[in-house]
Amino acid sequence: MRFIRDIHAAREGTGKPTISFEFFPFKTPEGEETFFGKTLPALLTARPDYASVTYGAGGSTREKTLEIVERIQNDFGLTTMAHLTCIRHTQAEIGGILDEAAKRGIQNILALRGDPPPGEEWAQTEDGFEYASELVAFLRDRGGFGIGVAGFPEGHIDCAEGREADWRHLVGKINRGADLVITQMFFDNADYFRLADYLNEQGVTAPLFPGIIPVASAGQIKKFSAMCGTTLPKAFATRLEALGDDADAVRDYGIEYATAQCHGLLERGVPGLHFYTLNKSQSVLRILDNLGLA
Ligand code: FAD
Repeated sequence: MRFIRDIHAAREGTGKPTISFEFFPFKTPEGEETFFGKTLPALLTARPDYASVTYGAGGSTREKTLEIVERIQNDFGLTTMAHLTCIRHTQAEIGGILDEAAKRGIQNILALRGDPPPGEEWAQTEDGFEYASELVAFLRDRGGFGIGVAGFPEGHIDCAEGREADWRHLVGKINRGADLVITQMFFDNADYFRLADYLNEQGVTAPLFPGIIPVASAGQIKKFSAMCGTTLPKAFATRLEALGDDADAVRDYGIEYATAQCHGLLERGVPGLHFYTLNKSQSVLRILDNLGLA
């Protein structure tokens, strides 16, 4: 498998964006069967460049991340990045997870702070890391991994000093050794380009991959956006409201909106498109088809 930074570098200047997919660990054997038997094979028809698998804030899905990444890489031949969070881990435990990742042939890690479970406050674990930037430095010193980090076009929800302060922290993560950034979902491209311009002004050359979510349910997107502080533009929210519980109509509108968003991003030469698939294939494939990228 390859470093994602090398996949990106091979594309630079060709005008062809990378396509990548994010998955989360399934909770049941049926979920696993559907994912490996149907969803992933369907998504592979779009010839993605890489994938990533999230890391649960706590509980059983944590162990699954490395296992799933290994299986996607070995059985399906797709370079896949494992997410890893600092929360509730000591540095020694993180070191053990990285040893295990290396043994499984994993070469790319998305270094994150993580969030506490709902209702709990963020607290640094004794002998753990406070910020993702410390995990980045740990990874860099250890060597052997390509390092990604999260970026927030509207600023991180916990950053009381505002958007630019959070962006400064992002530059800190990059300066400590990250070689790519994946953004949180956003619905107004102006937010992405504001962050991209800021990073450019700071001399950052690491690619900023926009994270795109095809909306499948109005309730779900309201919940997600409230949790992570993403703004739903007024016209978008009004239209979703009007579509109500008509699941097919909401899905079609989600596809239409994400297609338009991707068009706008591609027109200005983004390095790639990173899709939050929610472990589903249909909407993402239709968006890529609309864009002529499937
Ligand atoms: P950090 O970069 O550490 O930032 C956290 C907060 O601290 C921010 O407000 C930042 O501005 C502030 N900060 C950073 N450095 C400093 C400093 N030096 N001084 C003062 N303040 C500082 N969560 C999961 O649990 N599992 C996942 O798999 C997962 N995947 C994700 C993938 C993507 C692409 C994104 C965008 C998010 C993901 N998350 C995941 C959510 C993420 O863990 C949370 O958003 C978390 O709250 C912040 O993580 P971070 O890595 O950006 O943290």
